[in-house]
Amino acid sequence: MTRGEGACLVCGRPVVYYEKARQMECVMCHKMYESHAGCEEGHYVCDECHGRKGIEVIVEGCRKSTSKNPVFIMQKLMEDPYIYMHGPEHHVMVGAALLTAYHNAGGDVEYETALREVRARGSEYPGGSCGLWGCCGAAVSAGIFMSVITKATPLTGRSWKLSNQMTAKALNAIAGLGGPRCCKRNSFTAAREAAEFVREELKIEMELPEQILCDYSQENQQCLKNHCPYYK
Ligand SMILES: [Zn+2]
Ligand SMILES: [Zn+2]
Repeated sequence: MTRGEGACLVCGRPVVYYEKARQMECVMCHKMYESHAGCEEGHYVCDECHGRKGIEVIVEGCRKSTSKNPVFIMQKLMEDPYIYMHGPEHHVMVGAALLTAYHNAGGDVEYETALREVRARGSEYPGGSCGLWGCCGAAVSAGIFMSVITKATPLTGRSWKLSNQMTAKALNAIAGLGGPRCCKRNSFTAAREAAEFVREELKIEMELPEQILCDYSQENQQCLKNHCPYYK
């Protein structure tokens, strides 16, 4: 049995990993799963329930936020135990935080409709695509945000260009920092690039922290530490 990276969502005790998979009942949907992980007390939440709850946390948190700072919005969301250290919920989080900050900064957008779109499109993008497809989901999420606010489709002109440029800029900045993947580092980088690109192209001023500092280095076994620009 080895200690994991997180705390149990039910009781807060450490998550542990078993050498052999066990039959575990999800505390939320009560289905049985083979799992290598559970908490010290034996609680288990399946990936599907965990992911669904994480995305609800993101959407609700964004609706309530009055911040113009997408990094600040994400840092608040990341504190929630339903947001994993790494996971595909970040593919919704980046776009939703950007949309919220853009809207709060005076950006012209029908917020609820746009938030639903960001949620639906971001949820379709698979985990692990940074390494497997060569296109990180945090960058795609910034592209989704741009597509939604400019109403891009495969047939549009300037908005099509801006959306693809948005993903490219975020992806280039993410790639420049090197691997292995970190959903926190990639999300901060994509949001920073997007805020700058929106200011240049759409003349809406979102806010960014003077310095982005990450609280998750301890939880990330692959943290780049001094090679990460957000390492404390
Ligand atoms: Zn527990
Ligand atoms: Zn479940």
